[in-house]
This record gives sequence, C-alpha cells and structure tokens, in this order.
Amino acid sequence: MLAMTLIEPRGRLQPVERALPQPGPGQLRVRVTACAVCRTDLHVVDDELPGIPHPIVPGHEIVGIVDARGDGTTTPAGARVGIPWLGHTCGHCSYCSEGRENLCDEARFTGYQLDGGYAEYAVADERFCLPLPASLDDAHAAPLLCAGLIGYRSLVMAGDARRLGIYGFGAAAHIVAQVAHHQGRECYGFVRPGDTNAAAFARELGCCWAGDSNQPPPEALDAAIIFAPAGELVPAALGAVRKGGTVVCGGIHMSDIPSFPYARLWGERVLRSVANLTRRDGVEFLALAPRIPIRTEVTVFPLEQANDALDALREGRLNGAAVLVPGHK
Ligand SMILES: [Zn+2]
Ligand SMILES: [Zn+2]
Repeated sequence: MLAMTLIEPRGRLQPVERALPQPGPGQLRVRVTACAVCRTDLHVVDDELPGIPHPIVPGHEIVGIVDARGDGTTTPAGARVGIPWLGHTCGHCSYCSEGRENLCDEARFTGYQLDGGYAEYAVADERFCLPLPASLDDAHAAPLLCAGLIGYRSLVMAGDARRLGIYGFGAAAHIVAQVAHHQGRECYGFVRPGDTNAAAFARELGCCWAGDSNQPPPEALDAAIIFAPAGELVPAALGAVRKGGTVVCGGIHMSDIPSFPYARLWGERVLRSVANLTRRDGVEFLALAPRIPIRTEVTVFPLEQANDALDALREGRLNGAAVLVPGHK
C-alpha cells in the first residue's frame, strides 16, 4: 500500500510502498476512504510535539471501510468507521477510572505515536473506533473526527456562554460555529489581521461579527475559544471576555504566551486548555452532528499530494478542512 510517511523530523512526507498492516487481536483494518488534515499534523511534521517516532504516518481523522478483523472483534467487514486521535488508553489509571481517559498517562495517539490515515490502509483498536453519521459522505465526515470533536469538547468547556468568541477560523472553528449557532449563542469570529476571506467565511457560518484578532469585539464576551496556535492570542482573548469569563485553548501546541498584567486574569476570569478527547465526547458529538445538521466545507487532495494539503493549511489558504482521498484523480 501507499503511505505518505514522515521519515525524519521536519522533512517532507515521502510516498512509501509498505506491506498491508495486519490487524492484531482486537484490531480492525480499514481501507481508508478519506483522512482529514489537522493542524496537529503540522506540529507532528514540524517536530513540535515530544517523542514522535520516525518513520510515522500522520493522520487522525480517518474514515474507512473495515476489510480485515483481528480476533475478538465484532464490527462486520464492510462497515464504515471513524478512527480518531485517541488510539489507546490504559483503562485502569485514576484518569481512566474517573471518565477522563483523555488525560491517561499511557494514552497513545493516532498519527502521532501510532501510524495514521495518510495511507491506503490503517489498523486501529476496535474499542476506539467511532460510528459515523450516515448523512455525510466520507470526505465530509472526516473533519468531524478531530476538528469537530475537539471543537465540541472546547465548546463544552466554554460553559453556557451566550456571547462566544472564536480565535482562528479554520476547520475546528467552522464546525463549532455551527454547533454554537444551533444552541442559540452569538458567535464572534477573530481572524488573522487583514484576512478578509476568513472573516467573510466566519460571517457565512453564522457569526454575528467577524474581525481582526488584534481588535476588541463590539461587546464583552462571556467566553472565547482559541484554535490558532499563537500564544499572543491568550492575553488578547482574556481582554475580550468579561469578568467571570472563560478562555479555552483548544490546540495541542501554541507559541509561548507573552507576559501580561494580572488585571487581564483578575475578576475570576478562567484560562484553561482542552487536551485530546474521550470516546464519550466522540459518541455524543457524532450523534449530535446530523441533528443540527453540521455541514463541512472540504478541499479534497489526492493522497499523493499530502504535502500540498499541509502547505495550504500552513499558509491559511483553506476555507474549512483539507481532506486526503486515496485514488482521487
Ligand atoms: Zn489510563
Ligand atoms: Zn486533530
């Protein structure tokens, strides 16, 4: 099979011919039909996360059709499943037993420590595979698996905020804005200064206001979610929320946060991060998505052009999400 592989830190992905992976006990093998591209994939390629093994196949928003099954599995061959970021947990540590498996010390992640979906086939532990809503085709369902899930977890952490700011209008934001709008919240979209295209996209998705991230919103916000990996947005967002407001950092990596006066945090403002996802987040969100219904905007790239998709994401040239499709011409 073809696997777009990161051979060494900060390299370009290389097309590598590999033997088909064989599913072990409890594992499913899928023929990958779509894999969305996440900003985290850039952090993997750029070696900004600790302990990345090389070679590694990135990709953790995988839609595939089960084509081989390990011992003890029950999912039928031919079923469509989603493979998300969370690929393994220990099942017995304090976090796992408290319903916070996203924080498990022994967790392993797809496309980071486990080979992911930038390939024609992938294997995954059946217990971590997720059911997908039938209403979306493969390419449009793929971004739900991280942009959607992490976005949803971030939104839950923002509490019942009515006025919600969203910093960085990429794949996660374009899904979260739809959920927030559905819940009757007012969304304020913050984009890279001067990015009028992203601002227009934010308004299209129901934001009542969209503007540059270095500008204050017209009204003080109840909460804000930061998806862009830029540390300077933390003091900006704290300055945009009212007393008692929450700022949620939804990304896995951010540039350093500059120092700021304590007055920005004072007034019981809360600053927190969101890490990974639980399977429960996945099941909840994927059941909610077709009821809204969530629509995703995708740009399809052939699997072989994974580097072009990553470049487009890095340069902010996408509305919504890039999705890799094997065999796409
Ligand atoms: Zn654990
Ligand atoms: Zn992701």
